[in-house]
Amino acid sequence: MILAELLGATAAGAAVLARGTLSPNSRLVGPVVGRGPRERSVYLTFDDGPNPRSTERIVRILERADAPATFFMVGRHVERYPDVARCVADAGFDLGNHTYTHRRLALLGPRRTAWEVDAAHVAIAWAAGRAATCFRAPHGYRNPYLRRAVAPYAYRVFGWTLGVWDSDRPGADVIRRRVRDGVRPGAVVLLHDGDGDHPAGDRRQTVEALPGILEDCRAMGYELCALDRLGTV
Ligand SMILES: [Zn+2]
Repeated sequence: MILAELLGATAAGAAVLARGTLSPNSRLVGPVVGRGPRERSVYLTFDDGPNPRSTERIVRILERADAPATFFMVGRHVERYPDVARCVADAGFDLGNHTYTHRRLALLGPRRTAWEVDAAHVAIAWAAGRAATCFRAPHGYRNPYLRRAVAPYAYRVFGWTLGVWDSDRPGADVIRRRVRDGVRPGAVVLLHDGDGDHPAGDRRQTVEALPGILEDCRAMGYELCALDRLGTV
């Protein structure tokens, strides 16, 4: 009976921890910011770059629209395309660390977790000329070791409010519509300028959707804001 209760409690504890690990905005495995205040503002973020065919185009579209955004970069992509990472930094956008290899952190131990964070930090600082200031876990999957791994950099850790699965390439019109239909006050919107697994993955649909996304957000009265306004670790 006692053993059964103990097993039950352990299973329940494991389930809670698993939920915390796998939910991008759960605070169970450490501080994380998943949305902004419920004001008429949205926060655009781009993950998995830099990408040789998409990132610079996205940067130019954002610049033309005077729209801030944060780019969560994969360290090994940064090493492959340092000039593209530099272009993002030179345009003044916020830089985020998205690990070195884009492995799911939920499967990794403390040393590998720290290495993923450190190696990406070094790669971004080297290529971009300035340091990343925030972190987002690949797929939003974190682990209990992440908090210590990001502490040396004082990163703010971000989840997201609205993902539109642009990485599935459903068509630019669908990506645009999903943002328009799903955006809410304070939403942190997750888009992809790159591909976590493929350094030169095809993100043309996201590029094509972006001007319409910016237009729609503003037509609905949203202010496009920088993520650095939000939260501290
Ligand atoms: Zn990613």
